[in-house]
Amino acid sequence: MTGFGLDDLPLRDELRGKSPYGAPQLDVPVQLNTNENPYELPEPLVRRIAERVAEAARTLNRYPDRDAVELRTELAAYLTRTGKHPVGKENVWAANGSNEVLQQLLQAFGGPGRTAIGFEPSYSMHALIARGTGTGWISGPRREDFTIDVAAARRAIAEHAPDVVFITSPNNPTGTAVDAGTVLALYEAAQAAKPSLVVVDEAYVEFSHRDSLLPLIEGRPNLVVSRTMSKAFGAAGLRLGYLAAHPAVVDAVQLVRLPYHLSAVTQATALAALEHTDTLLGYVEQLKAERDRLVAELRAIGYEVTESDANFVQFGRFEDSHTAWQRILDQGVLVRDNGVPGWLRVTAGTPQENDAFLEAVRALKKEQQ
Ligand code: PMP
Repeated sequence: MTGFGLDDLPLRDELRGKSPYGAPQLDVPVQLNTNENPYELPEPLVRRIAERVAEAARTLNRYPDRDAVELRTELAAYLTRTGKHPVGKENVWAANGSNEVLQQLLQAFGGPGRTAIGFEPSYSMHALIARGTGTGWISGPRREDFTIDVAAARRAIAEHAPDVVFITSPNNPTGTAVDAGTVLALYEAAQAAKPSLVVVDEAYVEFSHRDSLLPLIEGRPNLVVSRTMSKAFGAAGLRLGYLAAHPAVVDAVQLVRLPYHLSAVTQATALAALEHTDTLLGYVEQLKAERDRLVAELRAIGYEVTESDANFVQFGRFEDSHTAWQRILDQGVLVRDNGVPGWLRVTAGTPQENDAFLEAVRALKKEQQ
């Protein structure tokens, strides 16, 4: 069948003419474009994963633990240890990446006739998952320096009365973190307007100078903190995200999750990784130091840099960011063009990868002078 394309299918109207999430997966020497951790898993952990997966394999004839109780218990223990707030398994829910957690939240709290707001530029999947779940999307404002203007954000919430409010801290792609006061002010506005669910997306929080906003869930049943093992745990390939919230939110997502959504292999692997939390988080300090080096060196070269609390740095400004992206790629370094006019984003890699990136952008600066 030639000449037959997407547009010829009986596709939902709101999906027509749209593109899928598309960070390019190119085979180049230095890949600094998807905010992954650059370090491979340590051998003792690889062996432990193999052991736990072998154990799980014996009973793959059975469905996995539908409620992932052991895994949620261990995730709760990790949060309690690091988040300055005690949580139990009843506060925690896990899914295949925090993207799936966010999708389940929008399935339960968004949907047709409902809306969600995010303060943009921010993580593009929030809007895409909204679209996929039939939730209307509202693009809220940020200041020129990419911080959230609390008064403007409160006005937007009061005006639109969204059902779900996304606050990404640290924010992707800008690296900007928010303080507890900002979350509290927006939570209050969201409760007054609707009430609505406020989701604090903390995918990068382990890299932040600030503490997690997790303690704010206390006494606020409409506040959710979402997390992932893709970044600080260096396990993007595992696909394991989780949330912490009032137990009622955990009950709510169970209304929409597919039964047995977390495979026994995923649960076994995540449990093995959690046994090695301290080793994995050891890389976080190294990456934070590399992030700070990238900020300092980019500024020394003459680029503008947005203050970053994450494992990546937004830098600019470029007259044409796509051409700049291509020139950096021509030198074997893949960074990310998030479509923020004038800016690109680079993930902190190994010292050698970062050196290669800095060399490429130094050359680009010379070209452009
Ligand atoms: N939230 C933010 C802000 C992100 O940047 C990402 C990944 N890029 C995610 C959530 C999703 O991560 P994952 O599904 O791998 O947990």
